[in-house]
Amino acid sequence: VTSNETIAALRRIVGDRHVTTGADIAPGHLADARMAMPEGEAPAALVCPANAAEISAVLKLCRSAGLAVVPQGGMTGLAGGAVPLPGSVAVALGRLSRIEEIDTAAATMTVEAGVPLEIVQRVADDAGFLFALDLGARGSCHIGGVTATNAGGNRVLRFGMMRDLVLGIEVVLADGTIVTSLNKMMKNNAGYDLKHLFIGSEGTLGIVTRLVLRLHPKPRSVATAFCGFAKFDDVLAFLGRARAELGGTLATFEVMWPEFYRIAIEEAGRRPPLPPAFACYVLIEMMGTDSARDPEKFAAFMEQSLDDRLIADAVVAGSEVQRGAFWHIRDASSEFSRGQGIPAGFDVSVPVGDIGRFVEDVAARLAAAFPDLRPVIFGHLADGNIHVEIRRIPDERARHDIEEIVYGATRDWGGSVSAEHGIGLVKKPYLAYSRTPEEIALMRTLKTALDPDNILNPGKIF
Ligand code: ZN
Repeated sequence: VTSNETIAALRRIVGDRHVTTGADIAPGHLADARMAMPEGEAPAALVCPANAAEISAVLKLCRSAGLAVVPQGGMTGLAGGAVPLPGSVAVALGRLSRIEEIDTAAATMTVEAGVPLEIVQRVADDAGFLFALDLGARGSCHIGGVTATNAGGNRVLRFGMMRDLVLGIEVVLADGTIVTSLNKMMKNNAGYDLKHLFIGSEGTLGIVTRLVLRLHPKPRSVATAFCGFAKFDDVLAFLGRARAELGGTLATFEVMWPEFYRIAIEEAGRRPPLPPAFACYVLIEMMGTDSARDPEKFAAFMEQSLDDRLIADAVVAGSEVQRGAFWHIRDASSEFSRGQGIPAGFDVSVPVGDIGRFVEDVAARLAAAFPDLRPVIFGHLADGNIHVEIRRIPDERARHDIEEIVYGATRDWGGSVSAEHGIGLVKKPYLAYSRTPEEIALMRTLKTALDPDNILNPGKIF
C-alpha cells in the first residue's frame, strides 16, 4: 500500500502532471508487445521524469519507501520485462528525448535514453552515417530500451548486437547514484568495462539515461536477392560461400521455412518473388562502399551460385521497389499472430551448424504432441537465431506443454532460450535450461551488490 505522502513526494520531484495513478495511467504502460498486467492489478503510480537527476531522486524515495521501480521504454518488448508489478512505481523514459551531439571525428552520437530508434537512424543518416541496429519495432522502441535488452535484429551478422554499438553509458543506480561513463573511444581498458553490466540487464541493475552510440559509414551500395533452396544443407553451404566472397559487405542472411513463406505471400497479397516450391528461402543483402562495382560483383556471385546449383532459384532486386517487396515478405512475421486466437512465439539460438537438424527435431516433437499446430519458422541464420511462431495454440493450458517442447529441444541442442528478446517474466522458468547454477549464482551476486534492497525491476530474469 502506498501512502499518499509518497505519491505527493513523487509529484514534487517530477511535477504534478508527470505523475499518474489508477485509471489515469495509459494502457500502453500496462503491457508490452507480449503480455499485459493481469486484470485487477495496477502499479501505484506512473512517473515520467525529465532527466537523470529526477530519476535519482525518484529511486532514493522509492528505496526508502520500499517500493519496486519498473523502468519503461517504448513497451515493444517480447518478454514482459517492462510490464509493471502490482504496487510498483513505473518510470517511463519518454521525456529523455534529446539528441545531444554528433561527433563526426569519433563517429559517435550522444543521446538520451528515450529517443526512438527510428529517430536515431534518421539523425545518423542526415549526418552521413549509419546507425546499424534495425528491427521491426524501430518506430516505437527507445534507444534505452534496446540497450537494456541488448536487442539484435536484421544486421547483427555484420554490425553486432546493441552491445557492439554502445561506447558509453550513463545509468542511475538503485541507491540514486548517477554513474556517468560517456566514453567515446574504441579502446578503453582502464578497469572493468562497466557499460556491459547494464546492457542486457533488463532494468534490474540500473536505469539507462544517456548513451554514446557507435556510428558506421553510410553504405553507398545495397544489393539484395531472394533465393530458393532444394535442401537446408545448401543454405549452410551458401552462407559459407557468401561470407568468403562478400566478406565484410554481407549484411543480412535471413532464412524462412516453407510454412513461413506460404503465409507471408498469402498476407502480402501480391505476386511472390519465387513460387512456393522450395525447402528453404533466404533473403540475402550486401551493403558496400563501391556503388559502381558492387552490383556487378553481387550479380556475378549470385550467378555462380546458381550455376553450381547451390541455389535452386533466385531473383536479384532490380529496383528499390523490388527490394522493398522482398523485405515485405520477411517483415510479414510481425503480422502473423494478429487476430488468430492465442499465439505463442519463441526466440532461441543454437549453434549454426545444428540449425537444420534442430528445426527438424522441434517440428517433429511439436507434431507428435500437437498434430495441428503447423509452426512457422524463420530466423537470422548467421547468428544461430531461430524464431518459432505458433499462430494459434489450443488454449492457455497448452502453452506450458508447447514451451516445454521448444525450450527442451533448445536445451538438448546446447542452445539459448533467449537469443535477442531477453528473459523478463515470460522466460524466467526456463533460464536454467541455458545457464548453469554457477552462472545464475554469479548473476544473483551482481544483483545483490548493485541493488541490495531489490527495488529495481524485482522478479524479472530470475
Ligand atoms: Zn529476430
